[in-house]
Amino acid sequence: MPEPERPQRPGGGPGSRSGGAHRAVNPKTPKSEQVTEAKNVPENENTTGRTPFGSAVAQGAQMTHPGPGVMPGLEPPTAADPVDGAAASGATVSPGAVPAGRTPGAGHPAVPAVLGGAVLQPQLDAFLAAHEDELIAFRRDLHAHPELGYAEHRTTAKIAERLRAAGLDPVILPKGTGLFCDIGPADGTTVALRADIDALPLQDEKQGVPYRSTVQGVAHACGHDVHTTMVLGAGLFLAQQAEAGLLPGRVRLLFQPAEETPGGALDVMAAGGIAGVDRAFALHCDPRIEVGQLGLRTGPITAACDKVYVKVTGPGGHTARPHLTADLVYALAKIVTELPSALSRRVDPRSSLSLVWGRVSAGSVANAIPDDGIAEGTVRCLDDEAWHRAPEMMKALLQSVAAAYDVEASLEYVRGVPPTVNEAASVQMFRDAAAQVMDEEGVVPTPQSLGGEDFGWYLESIPGALARLGVRTPGSPGEYDLHRGDFDVDERCIAVGLRVLSATALTALWEGGRPGDTESIKGAALA
Ligand SMILES: [Zn+2]
Ligand SMILES: [Zn+2]
Repeated sequence: MPEPERPQRPGGGPGSRSGGAHRAVNPKTPKSEQVTEAKNVPENENTTGRTPFGSAVAQGAQMTHPGPGVMPGLEPPTAADPVDGAAASGATVSPGAVPAGRTPGAGHPAVPAVLGGAVLQPQLDAFLAAHEDELIAFRRDLHAHPELGYAEHRTTAKIAERLRAAGLDPVILPKGTGLFCDIGPADGTTVALRADIDALPLQDEKQGVPYRSTVQGVAHACGHDVHTTMVLGAGLFLAQQAEAGLLPGRVRLLFQPAEETPGGALDVMAAGGIAGVDRAFALHCDPRIEVGQLGLRTGPITAACDKVYVKVTGPGGHTARPHLTADLVYALAKIVTELPSALSRRVDPRSSLSLVWGRVSAGSVANAIPDDGIAEGTVRCLDDEAWHRAPEMMKALLQSVAAAYDVEASLEYVRGVPPTVNEAASVQMFRDAAAQVMDEEGVVPTPQSLGGEDFGWYLESIPGALARLGVRTPGSPGEYDLHRGDFDVDERCIAVGLRVLSATALTALWEGGRPGDTESIKGAALA
């Protein structure tokens, strides 16, 4: 498909980057007034006074450097822009203010001025003005040199080198790829920002881009190069905040290997990568969402996928005398047909637990009953509870069907990844962060995917959330999808993701990242 039009790099010069690039707010407005205003604003009402141009214009307000090649309608508003002038009049929700429907919880630290978008945005603008070109070059370098799971040695070295150059002290994981790096004081809350660093065994089919994969049969077709760059960038920004004494806790950057394999998350956990971490956040590229938008969902956002292997054994014999043997092929056929339907009657249909066979095999000739047979399949599931119960349920059902036909049956159940179940409070933190660094139109609902994501392993142990980051150029033709050879992103998503991750980490640190510290949050249902 045609490549989406990209802004040329560099952009229109330093002056064009920050001018009007952040949301118009009146920094002189006292904090208390901002909060009071926000409380009175209905959550879904468009109070910006802007003509509803849709998300493209909303994005334009935060893109840092639409250059000469920018898409029409994405130019940032100028200081004299009457549209933003209306927003600056105070009729909008102030960035950093407590969103409607929420009240600051008793016992929580007051949200400091530094967290307000009015302060954070200019800091992010300044950081991006200095580092966005470098970050895009970093992403392009990773994209051109993709590495498969557990082979990410060059990628690991590049990340570690950049972190060390910033005075940080990354820790390489025991298998030699992947790393984590702590920023800020150890006492208090710790929040993790997770990126995955591996690529896919796919041929890069993109044409006409200078950063096309140079490795035959390997490509960053799932956006992990972008995830890595965004977490690195957020880490460098937060390290600056820490140096200035503005980081109210610790942020752990997690650069996880082998997400696609999968297994990397388990390695990170085995190496103590989430020890002491109170909450974890991650962004994943979503080519169905436009750049400048963030897709949120409370509850399960990805699905589980496990593999099952059934082996059936019994005394074989002549097909003339099945009563003197165990009729193994008949028994196997019963198992293959009974198990999926029995399972579906044992769990809540909303969990969408489904067992589907991909291979069944037994016997070699027409007139001999074999003495063994196998069936292999996958179990997919949208619900965490059903996923936990699935192996035991399946084992019990298998044994009861096998017993009825007098054959022996064994089950090997191989866990893939659990569903990623987003915690409501963590999703609300994403939402609060987005309110500081994005326009209100920037947050969109996103459906649960049937794909797997090993971030779910972390959320089995600690609360957190994964959000979907829009990477599609508005108005670009054609269908995009992950895991395709022509997958690419609108690189402006890197700045958006960096802003969202930085603001989310700060929000989580200030709002109290420890499970149980956070009040139940109203309005945190399905985004
Ligand atoms: Zn993937
Ligand atoms: Zn992925």
